[in-house]
Parts: sequence; structure tokens; C-alpha cells
Amino acid sequence: MPISRRDFLKYCSAAAAALGLGGTDLLRLEQVLADPTAPTVLWLHGSSCSGCSVSFLNYIAGSDPTDPGDILLNHVNLAYHPVLMAPAGLPAYQAAEAAYSLGNYVLVVEGAVATQFSGRCCWPWADGTGTEETFLSAVTRYAAKAAQVVCAGSCSAFGGIPAAGSNPTLARSVRAVTGKPTINIPGCPCHPNWLVWALVQILLGKGISTDSSGRPTALFSSKVHSNCPRRGKPKDTVLGGSGCLRDLGCRGPDTQANCPAQKWNNAQSWCIEASAPCYGCTEPGFPGSSPFYKFPAG
Ligand code: SF4
Ligand code: SF4
Ligand code: SF4
Repeated sequence: MPISRRDFLKYCSAAAAALGLGGTDLLRLEQVLADPTAPTVLWLHGSSCSGCSVSFLNYIAGSDPTDPGDILLNHVNLAYHPVLMAPAGLPAYQAAEAAYSLGNYVLVVEGAVATQFSGRCCWPWADGTGTEETFLSAVTRYAAKAAQVVCAGSCSAFGGIPAAGSNPTLARSVRAVTGKPTINIPGCPCHPNWLVWALVQILLGKGISTDSSGRPTALFSSKVHSNCPRRGKPKDTVLGGSGCLRDLGCRGPDTQANCPAQKWNNAQSWCIEASAPCYGCTEPGFPGSSPFYKFPAG
């Protein structure tokens, strides 16, 4: 079996406040984990900062699934997540391998795949003999048996920050390395609603239509600029104003995402509302050449 019920409950008890879990919830969790039909999700981390996991933990919604606890309790059987699960080391590896051997799981990948030195610059785990496996090997192996591969964040979707600049580890996207079609949920980090939306579609057995970059068209078909409330306003020349940020480096006209409508931090605000130019974090070319902001001469 994936994570033992005892271990999973131990984790949920420890993280009950963060996950919004009460005593009744933990009892329900026991029932859900006893359901052999519960979909299994494996979440691997490659070259990443874990920011997309943190973003996922910020998820709160008014309808089902309502928060990460609800998702973990009622919608998925999270068999492996190196940040969230209670076990570490060999027991964690064995949990992943047990789910892997059964196949037919949803594989969520956070982080790019380091390919330099045959991948020997990113190691997710070691087996019972102490033999380590590269992330390159692990993600290739796990993607091959997955029912669906979801890339959480721009690192796994397109290479992102690990692939920027001189890219000394030759970091690449999951799709480029495995050759497998992936549902790409980019963003640095990805919005929790985007990721949860994709997982729910998959768990409900619904098809996800994507663009040529693997992004769901339901989420990434409109430009940030098209729905920006600052469109048509005079262009600002210094940060902190209320005008258009185009002359300060805003990439909204070239960036596809529903941030103006979705907003961030539980719909509190978003980049441009906070007077920061859009830096194009959902685009395949992100982060591109720095700096993110432009400052007019003089
Ligand atoms: S996409 Fe950004 S936030 Fe997510 S893991 Fe990569 S660097 Fe971190
Ligand atoms: S701030 Fe950016 S996204 Fe908004 S109107 Fe100006 S260029 Fe477009
Ligand atoms: S507004 Fe631009 S930089 Fe900000 S989250 Fe959306 S796509 Fe990323």
C-alpha cells in the first residue's frame, strides 16, 4: 500500500491546523484511505524551490474541494509528497515504489529535470541498499507508468528558473525529457486554483483541452493585458502609481493567464493590482532575460 494509514494520519494530525482538519475529519480520513478505489497521486520534486507546494497549501475555495485537507481527505490518495508526508527516507521511497508498482496513478511533478552529468545533480531518494537514483531516472520511470502527468509550476512545465541563464545543470521540462504529453500548469508559483482545477478534471475523468504549450485553454487562453483594469491608462514611469506599467517592463501583453479575474492569495490581489508589472511567469520563455523591471533613462 502507499503511505500507511497510521503514517498518513500522523502527518494530518501534525498539520491539522494548516490543513483545516478536526477530529471528525481525521476519522473520515481513515475511512477514505480504506477505500481501495481512491485515486492515487504521486507528487515528485525535482529542481525546484517547493514554492508550488506552498502555493497549493494556500488553496481555499467556497465549493468542494474547499482546501488542501478536503482534497487529501476526500478526493485523492496522496501516496507520496516529500514535503507533506510524514515518513522520510526509506519508508517514503517504499511508499512511492509501492504506488509505482500498481501503476495507473496521477503523477504531479514540481521542478525541472536536471540532465547534465547524466542527471547526477538532482537525487530524490535512495533504495534499501543505499543506491541513489537521479531525478532524471525517477521521473522518466514514473512518467512511463502514469495515467496522467501534471506539471505543477513553470520549472516542470518549461524549465523555468532552474533552466535560466547559463543553465549549468541543463535543466529541462518534464515533457522534453520524458517525451510524454503533460498537462502544464505553469506559473512561478502556479496558482493553487489552477492546479486543483486540473486535478479535479482528471479525477472526474474529463478531458482537458490544451494549447501548443500544454496549458489548459480553460485557464490560459486570454492575455493578462486583455483583462487588465489599467489598460488604456497613462503609462507610469515610476513604480507605485496607478497607471499602465508597460514602460516599466510589464509583460502582460505577451502573457496568457487569467490572473486579473482569478487574483491571488484567496482573491485578495494580484501582481498589477499590487503595482508590480506582470513578469510573464506562465509563459514558456519565463524568466527570460532579467531584469524583470525596466527603468526609464534619466
Ligand atoms: S515554478 Fe517557481 S515557485 Fe514553483 S517550484 Fe519552480 S521556482 Fe519554485
Ligand atoms: S499594466 Fe501591463 S497588462 Fe496592464 S494594461 Fe499595462 S501593459 Fe497591459
Ligand atoms: S500577473 Fe503575470 S507575473 Fe503575475 S502571476 Fe499572473 S502571469 Fe504571473
